[in-house]
Amino acid sequence: MSNRAWKSLRRDVIQCELCPRLIKHCQQIAKTKRRAYIDQEYWGKPVPNVGTLPARLLVVGLAPGAHGANRIGRMFSGDRSGDWLYEALHRFDFANQPTSSSLDDGLELHDCVITNVCRCAPPGNKPTTEELNTCSQYLDRTFALVQPEIIIALGQLAWKAVLKNLSTRLELPKPRPKFSHNAIVSLDSHIQLLGSYHPSQQNTFTGRLTKPMFHRVFRRARRLLS
Ligand code: SF4
Repeated sequence: MSNRAWKSLRRDVIQCELCPRLIKHCQQIAKTKRRAYIDQEYWGKPVPNVGTLPARLLVVGLAPGAHGANRIGRMFSGDRSGDWLYEALHRFDFANQPTSSSLDDGLELHDCVITNVCRCAPPGNKPTTEELNTCSQYLDRTFALVQPEIIIALGQLAWKAVLKNLSTRLELPKPRPKFSHNAIVSLDSHIQLLGSYHPSQQNTFTGRLTKPMFHRVFRRARRLLS
């Protein structure tokens, strides 16, 4: 049953057209392309979750990159953020390879699903509050199906979206826990939320997030699951 629901979630996301501004933007980018990828066929649609059930770890990011996931069709693929994420997942045995470059590159996640709070590439990498609210239905369905033990929120926006979403089904601590890198919060006896700076170039190029800092979060997740 859950596998059927998982496939149906994937199908619904790919076909979704609820945010006209974002759909138009994704299609526009797919048409104009970046010079380096001019020969490639862009995905140009909402990007579904990565991974299969069951999974105890859920990684929550912000939104697909315009020339990364919006080109490849897989979250955190084809750009530097993805290079960091898949390297870390592979290092701690959540992925069979450290890179994600195309839909047929053989990538498999183990015990892990990757999702985003917004499934379409937004202009300026900034979805509106309304778009985030609209897309939260898919986050909701993702939580319900995955039922993760550990959630890693990549960035403050993902952290807040996770807490907002889970507050509808769990009694959460008050005041709401604050985001910081490597913060950890028990949301109930089954779910722990870990915070990490997003591996965006804004953070990695400036040294705000370093590889050892990023690895620390995934190492912790691995230890908690062991
Ligand atoms: S952002 Fe989410 S809700 Fe909006 S069109 Fe894309 S998939 Fe649909």
